[in-house]
Amino acid sequence: MLDADFFRRWMTATAVSVDREAERLTALDSPIGDADHGSNLQRGFTAVAAALEKEAPDTPGAVLTLAGRQLISTVGGASGPLYGTLLRRTGKALGDAAEVSEEQLTHALRTGVEAVMQLGGAAPGDKTMIDALVPAVDALGESFAAARAAAEEGALATTPLQARKGRASYLGERSIGHQDPGATSSALLLAALAEAAD
Ligand code: ADP
Ligand code: MG
Ligand code: MG
Repeated sequence: MLDADFFRRWMTATAVSVDREAERLTALDSPIGDADHGSNLQRGFTAVAAALEKEAPDTPGAVLTLAGRQLISTVGGASGPLYGTLLRRTGKALGDAAEVSEEQLTHALRTGVEAVMQLGGAAPGDKTMIDALVPAVDALGESFAAARAAAEEGALATTPLQARKGRASYLGERSIGHQDPGATSSALLLAALAEAAD
């Protein structure tokens, strides 16, 4: 079973890896965006880590809803409301149980990813974070490691795609040949989940 401490470790590990990879995320957002994805998420997850320490939420659902709220209120870019919705809706779907099963997490995360698709209007193949998140949730039923690998593969597979949502879509065909920054950060989120489970 996964307790609040597991979810805090997930969020903290995400903050650490976003911090470490911020320059790379911003560099990916340079040719097909406005070169701020790394700094956006760095600001957001720094706030998440600080809020978790200060408020010490004691259920899995409360950890994720607090994290989601922080992202929505601190990240200006498109990714803030989208990641915020992902975590808030996943947290809400987990309810107020003190511990949840991996199966419950998989189901809740699917609810969260669906909420992101509804909010942003992106489907798989549109060259967004959805291209990492959907295969990850599909693989999560198998294992955390499988979900991590699926997210990484999904992020890499965005390179040949033409963007149909977000800033990159303004470039039309010129968005082809670049890996999507948001799909890349989603792979970091799933890698951090696998790390928390180790
Ligand atoms: P902004 O584009 O506002 O500067 P960021 O650079 O932080 O925001 O985030 C860009 C990422 O957000 C993109 O790489 C993409 O993965 C994701 N994104 C943008 N629009 C959407 C959308 N409508 N649905 C899903 N993801 C999106
Ligand atoms: Mg940007
Ligand atoms: Mg921006």
